[in-house]
Amino acid sequence: MMIKGIKVKLYPTREQEILLWKSAGIARFAYNWAKRFSDTYYRIFRKTVSCGAMRKHFTKLRRRKKYAWLNEVSSEIPQQAIKDFDNARTRYFEHISKLPKFKTKKKSKVSFFHNNNKFVVEDGYIQLEKIGKIRMSDESRLPRGRYKKDKIKVTNPRIKHNGRYWYLSVGIECEETPLKLNPDLSVGIDLGIKELAIVSNFEKPFCNINKTKSVRKLKKRIRRLKRQASRKYEKNRRGQQFIKTNNIRKLEQKIKILEQHLTNIRVNHTHQATNMIAKTKPSRIVMETLNVKGMLKNRHLADAVQEQGFYRFIQYMKYKSEKYGIKFIQADRFYPSSKTCSCCGNIKSDLKLSDRIYYCDNCGMILDRDKNASINLANYQSA
Ligand SMILES: [Zn+2]
Repeated sequence: MMIKGIKVKLYPTREQEILLWKSAGIARFAYNWAKRFSDTYYRIFRKTVSCGAMRKHFTKLRRRKKYAWLNEVSSEIPQQAIKDFDNARTRYFEHISKLPKFKTKKKSKVSFFHNNNKFVVEDGYIQLEKIGKIRMSDESRLPRGRYKKDKIKVTNPRIKHNGRYWYLSVGIECEETPLKLNPDLSVGIDLGIKELAIVSNFEKPFCNINKTKSVRKLKKRIRRLKRQASRKYEKNRRGQQFIKTNNIRKLEQKIKILEQHLTNIRVNHTHQATNMIAKTKPSRIVMETLNVKGMLKNRHLADAVQEQGFYRFIQYMKYKSEKYGIKFIQADRFYPSSKTCSCCGNIKSDLKLSDRIYYCDNCGMILDRDKNASINLANYQSA
């Protein structure tokens, strides 16, 4: 069994939207409350308060008149937020992440938990506790039915706002479909700057998405808006102090959305390329081991590497290989994939970075440099 993450866009009415904001606000309140409670408890008793104890205290708090507003949303929302804090705290104790911070209105993600037991899903609608039926659009991927009665389970259901719209994100369990792999097919992938990836069994390379017209336009727009924002900051400056006006806030929101859009395009492109490679059903995939230090020394190269998302590509390819049972290999850092002739094995030690075509003095082979490298990677024999 594996978990697949899905996203469902929500179309709340105005009244519903108010409740969604309230839910997110209460989740944030409970998280911060838990952090304060846990910190104070530790200061006084030199002991870590358990998650269960914090939840009990919070329930008492909710019964007080002053905190009646906490009861306007499902009680599971703050309870889960306290559990989220507890998890963040555990990650800190185990040195996995930093000390959990307070969630601020401006910086933290708008998100809250919803118990999946209470979901009722029908075509085009989902019913949420204390909020009611919300119109939604999903390409019929969310299981239909009364979740509790029909024993339907989804994992980690969260309702989020991304700056533009509300959506539900859940994980659903699905059967793994093992691919029938081709035992004789080994695929080599050469990552590049000009093109994203040159793959031994693909005639055409996977393009560098950052060079397409639409991405270039998008980047230009972001740059322009950023310049606008900094000009506005300069204009509203009082001595050493920068003042954030509503206009600046609006601009920043716009930039955030466009940047998110840009990331989505890049991530999608990587998914598409790695999917297509995995779908050729090789029994193994070989990639190079990137020389991080060397690449970061060259500023121009570093930017390109970051934009192209080499690490993301390797991560996705690795994960997809594991998923389908394909052997994933990273060649030794010093393996001369570019300098070797993929036809006769002769090594051309004077190959320059500017030589785009590989011409073999030994056997006369003429081939695109990166294509040659990808074939060598496909033929890589690990020591
Ligand atoms: Zn040769």
